[in-house]
Amino acid sequence: TYVVTDNCIACKYTDCVEVCPVDCFYEGENMLVIHPDECIDCGVCEPECPADAIRPDTEPDMDKWVEFNRKYSELWPVLVTKKDQLPEAEERDGETDKLNKYFS
Ligand code: SF4
Repeated sequence: TYVVTDNCIACKYTDCVEVCPVDCFYEGENMLVIHPDECIDCGVCEPECPADAIRPDTEPDMDKWVEFNRKYSELWPVLVTKKDQLPEAEERDGETDKLNKYFS
């Protein structure tokens, strides 16, 4: 599966949702997640993210992000249409520790 990681937080660009063939992105207040059981691993969303926040779970230390994506995809509504990024997206892109600082 692919998962959305830390750098989506407080940016929430939504280019990814437009290309996903199975509509498995879910939207929280300030980030998106992928449902790991719905993702078909096609990889087309990865290069679409301006914040480079989408990673394959084959990379190191992704287990916690798989669980995180699973948890919130079951709580949040699906998003299938692109919308504006958050107002501070450019400024927040690349900041460290966004999960603790901004996640809501
Ligand atoms: Fe959707 Fe493919 Fe990205 Fe999985 S890898 S979230 S199926 S676009």
